[in-house]
Amino acid sequence: MHVGHGIEAVLQRGMCVGCGGCALAAGPVRVALNSRGVYQADLSELTPAQRANASRVCPFSDDAADEDVLAGEQFASLPRHPALGRHLGAYAGRSARPGRLESSSGGLTSLLLEELLRRGLVDGVIHVGRSDGDALFAYRVSRSAQDVRAVKGSVYSATSFAEVLAAVRGDGRRYAFVGVPCFVTAVRLLAREDPALAGQVPYLVGLVCGHLKSGFFAESLSWQAGVKPAALTSIDFRVKNPHRRAYSYDYRVTGGGKSRDRRIDSTLDGNWAYGAFQPEACNFCDDVFAETADITFGDAWVAPYLDDWRGTNIVVTRSRELDDLVRELRDVGQIELDELTPERVALSQAGGLRHRRDGLRVRLADDRAAGLSVPRKRVEPGYEALTEQRIALVRQRRVLSRISLEAFAEARRQGRWAAYARPMRRGIRRYRAIEAASTPWVVRQVSRWKARARKLIGR
Ligand SMILES: Cc1cc2nc3c(=O)[nH]c(=O)nc-3n(C[C@H](O)[C@H](O)[C@H](O)COP(=O)(O)OP(=O)(O)OC[C@H]3O[C@@H](n4cnc5c(N)ncnc54)[C@H](O)[C@@H]3O)c2cc1C
Ligand code: SF4
Ligand code: SF4
Repeated sequence: MHVGHGIEAVLQRGMCVGCGGCALAAGPVRVALNSRGVYQADLSELTPAQRANASRVCPFSDDAADEDVLAGEQFASLPRHPALGRHLGAYAGRSARPGRLESSSGGLTSLLLEELLRRGLVDGVIHVGRSDGDALFAYRVSRSAQDVRAVKGSVYSATSFAEVLAAVRGDGRRYAFVGVPCFVTAVRLLAREDPALAGQVPYLVGLVCGHLKSGFFAESLSWQAGVKPAALTSIDFRVKNPHRRAYSYDYRVTGGGKSRDRRIDSTLDGNWAYGAFQPEACNFCDDVFAETADITFGDAWVAPYLDDWRGTNIVVTRSRELDDLVRELRDVGQIELDELTPERVALSQAGGLRHRRDGLRVRLADDRAAGLSVPRKRVEPGYEALTEQRIALVRQRRVLSRISLEAFAEARRQGRWAAYARPMRRGIRRYRAIEAASTPWVVRQVSRWKARARKLIGR
């Protein structure tokens, strides 16, 4: 029996992120894309006992151990930072091997995965890449360094590991698993229940996460680049541009015989602060740095690394073995690595942390006040120490996520971009008005001048 917010409540409240943990734990669970482009589990075939098993591995269920408990078990001797969780090393770095430009950021994720394979520490890598199936992207297994190199780049789109992990389970081989924090936590929870599976996935590699995007994000970016959703065959979410700073990247869509590049910051919904196409699950998440992973990679969204268009990673290590590996690669000149304080690493994710700390407190308090079931999180619900504007901004962001998912579904149905763009623009105007009200006039004026100057010089 679950206490509080169990897996049934997760599904009722639309908080399922579609990871697939429950399918591995409980058996007959179908995890499929819903009408909003997000994977959702269907538990209707499960017996009460199977549901209880599923609930223990669901990252949004109160029956599951939280990130503090899991990281405490795994990395007991390491200090805990309020943002990074348990940590051994904290770095900024980049690959010194050719091919960094094809990666999203500094290329260290691919480099580490290649190295694990090359050294025979794993037989395969479970990560996300292009798919030939119904969705553009899916979890897959890479078994050689060459395969890993072919799957570089960030996939800002919903996926599920249910099928792939089930396919390799019990095959006697060892794998590195790559995922956003909640997916890594789901695998850590599964491994806790099943020692054989734990032996099969000795390395969990986390990706820092701002929020997930439904499959609609790719379609919206594509539509804005002149390729209608039905014609879209592939998308590269991050194409580096030597004329701009690291965060001002392009994206590339292919379909209908065309291939188009466009600036992400010229789109209606490419600003991550708007929370466009964010699944509801991400409104109830408090893990930015994949605190249960052996190593975590993200973007060094902090000076001076922002100026390097080629991209720089932040890295948080928790496993001694992987920390040694990273340092060894630095010593032989394969990677460049600067040691950073945990505070500096945390600063690189200031927006994501606000969303998952103060923002989460507001959403939990709002939902509780509305009599809705909410999961137990590592922050307390409440509004203390937050301004009216900040609270309004958190709420409007949630509204924007909802509008984007609902209006885009309608726009797709009608084949009419305006059915999405109109309500979304209205919502964004309101968001910006709230933001402006909380920003002093001088700061607003300076950022307007900066934006104008950037336009004039085309950067
Ligand atoms: C949904 C999402 C949100 C993110 N939000 C942030 C953020 O707010 N701040 C931040 O600093 N970083 C964020 N990241 C991480 C960032 O985009 C880069 O993935 C990370 O910095 C690694 O870059 P790299 O150059 O080392 O990786 P690369 O060398 O490009 O390799 C990327 C590796 O990750 C795998 N991969 C890509 N997408 C996925 C996925 N969805 N699930 C599982 N494996 C995947 C690929 O298969 C490949 O092996 C996010 C990533 C995702 C997927
Ligand atoms: S374990 Fe994952 S797929 Fe299953 S209900 Fe929870 S979030 Fe959804
Ligand atoms: S924001 Fe949290 S819940 Fe959403 S995908 Fe990222 S880790 Fe998972």
